[in-house]
Amino acid sequence: ILIAFEGIDGTGKSTQLPLLAAYLRGQGYTVVETREPTDGPYGQQIRLLYRNRHQASPEQELELFLLDRRQHVEQCIKPALARGAIVLTDRYYFSTAAYQGAAGCDPAAIFARHGFAPEPDLVLLLTQTPSESVTRIRELRGEMLNDFEQQEQLEKVAALFASFTHDCIVRIHAARTVAEVHASIREAVAQLLAQ
Ligand code: C5P
Repeated sequence: ILIAFEGIDGTGKSTQLPLLAAYLRGQGYTVVETREPTDGPYGQQIRLLYRNRHQASPEQELELFLLDRRQHVEQCIKPALARGAIVLTDRYYFSTAAYQGAAGCDPAAIFARHGFAPEPDLVLLLTQTPSESVTRIRELRGEMLNDFEQQEQLEKVAALFASFTHDCIVRIHAARTVAEVHASIREAVAQLLAQ
């Protein structure tokens, strides 16, 4: 079973993912927690790009995300699924369609290039407004926002996430307490596991 956490920056993906992992382990499941960009060579290149800002075109960025994901799928996701684990990934190809789509690539073409990537059984799309995200990022991380986190950019990303209609997507309202969001996530996962 493959579950992806998606949503704009500051929606709580990396808070909620370990909470779900702990809950599922408590239920006796084997769980693998992972994230994209990965810590592999391409993922590291991507993170370096963000720190240096605008050193690559959207198309070059997209190529790096695809290389990173191909490696992630082959080396981590597929082997874990084959072992029968529940794989929880912090971001997957919906993020690429939304972020690199917002940067100027065609989201449909991005989806079309992911034939190699297993389709998730469930996408937990954490939703809140970009201004809620910006407030939360400032409060929680005390960070000045980088280019990718500027509100205007987030508006475009959020609009693309909102436009996705895949059956595997469940939208979770993220501007609530951690416990409330976790409860909604559990409910969505329970429905999946009951199938
Ligand atoms: O998931 P995380 O917040 O660590 O992502 C790091 C940064 O990468 C974020 O600022 C996000 O906006 C950006 N990102 C991106 N394109 C993706 C995935 C993430 O620009 N496909």
